[in-house]
Amino acid sequence: MTVLIPTRLSTANLDACPSTTTAAPSAERFVLRERGQREVFCGLTGIIWLHRKIQDAFFLVVGSRTCAHLIQSAAGVMIFAEPRFATAIIDERDLAGLADCNAELDRVVTRLLERRPDIKMLFLVGSCPSEVIKLDLSRAAERLSREHTPRVRILNYSGSGIETTFTQGEDACLASLIPELRRTDAAAPKSLLVVGALADVVEDQFKRIFADLGIDSVAFLPPRKAADMPAVGPNTSFLLAQPFLTDTARLLEATGAQRLLAPFPLGAQGTTGWLKAAADAWNIPAEHFRQVIAPAEKRARAALEPYRLRLAGKRIFFFPDSQLEVPLARFLYSELSVDPVEVGTPYLHKQHLAMELDQLPETTLISEGQDVERQLDRCREAKPDLVVCGLGLANPLEAEGFTTKWSIELLFTPVQGYEQAGDLAELFARPLVRRTRLEV
Ligand code: SF4
Repeated sequence: MTVLIPTRLSTANLDACPSTTTAAPSAERFVLRERGQREVFCGLTGIIWLHRKIQDAFFLVVGSRTCAHLIQSAAGVMIFAEPRFATAIIDERDLAGLADCNAELDRVVTRLLERRPDIKMLFLVGSCPSEVIKLDLSRAAERLSREHTPRVRILNYSGSGIETTFTQGEDACLASLIPELRRTDAAAPKSLLVVGALADVVEDQFKRIFADLGIDSVAFLPPRKAADMPAVGPNTSFLLAQPFLTDTARLLEATGAQRLLAPFPLGAQGTTGWLKAAADAWNIPAEHFRQVIAPAEKRARAALEPYRLRLAGKRIFFFPDSQLEVPLARFLYSELSVDPVEVGTPYLHKQHLAMELDQLPETTLISEGQDVERQLDRCREAKPDLVVCGLGLANPLEAEGFTTKWSIELLFTPVQGYEQAGDLAELFARPLVRRTRLEV
């Protein structure tokens, strides 16, 4: 087993390893379910934004050279800093059973921790190859924890591309943190937990708004430092900041914490609804709530207006990729008057998305899963103005004359909250402007 630490920017092709008017109540609306060939990235992709978020964590992928190339290509900007991810390559000797993979892994981890005393939390990240050879990373994490605790916490999760989609990597990573969190009991003061990786700038904005509302005990998962893990218990209420955290939410609920029913904080309306869910749980008077949010909400609406004029009436088609599709379609429809023709999502969690689904028009087809050829046929027939899809489909669709937007960009860009509402709209307007310029 050798370790591949990313050292320089790579421009390798990421496609190489892909692993209208009336709303329909979410409980009743038809959902097209498809289980055919899919075109999605694997959960390793989450490392690209997670390693920036937890600043003293390290992600050691136990995988193949393909896995190493995927994350190195996608996170190539790390040439400017000491990388906080690497791949322990499972080579031919490991695959042939000639080497003891567990002993090799222990050796690699020990050497890594000796060289990098700044690492406080180490994630062993499983991949397709480690699953194929049935390398038990949970036992490896337990064994290595005994050796390296308390200096380093060692956890594991799977980022494998077998039956997963790329944002599930974050869900699996955060879910692995839940058993580590300190438990509080019913006597503990009421606290709010915001769950899902947000850009630091967005997190700081939300912190200020919660403080102005009078909600003081607020924590974020994941935290910026391994030592700042929040405590959870029956007096914890949590708000999901991302729609793809199914396992994390389930494990949090098992601790007694309660999920607040809210839309996702995209755009002016989405952000207000999200903040209102917390304000209501803290019995904040409606007048005070309006007073606190009004200036930022007004700024967001003003930032959206020029985009609404440009985007209104455009027809959009979402291929399933990031699991952000339903909240994005809600934002585009209700705040920018865009017409969502089809909203495909890899998995549809009706409870988590209830408030968003309720706002989508009846004419929008919601589809879950994928049969890529059939979906491409529907897209060609619909002739949308803009297609949101993964990188693997974008180039072929552009070649056919469609205007596309890479859905993965929405995970790398700060898009939540009032101050980012205009930037979010810009992400959808830009490809249309580019297409118009190309046609001139
Ligand atoms: S985990 Fe699987 S799908 Fe992802 S890069 Fe590695 S081999 Fe490819």
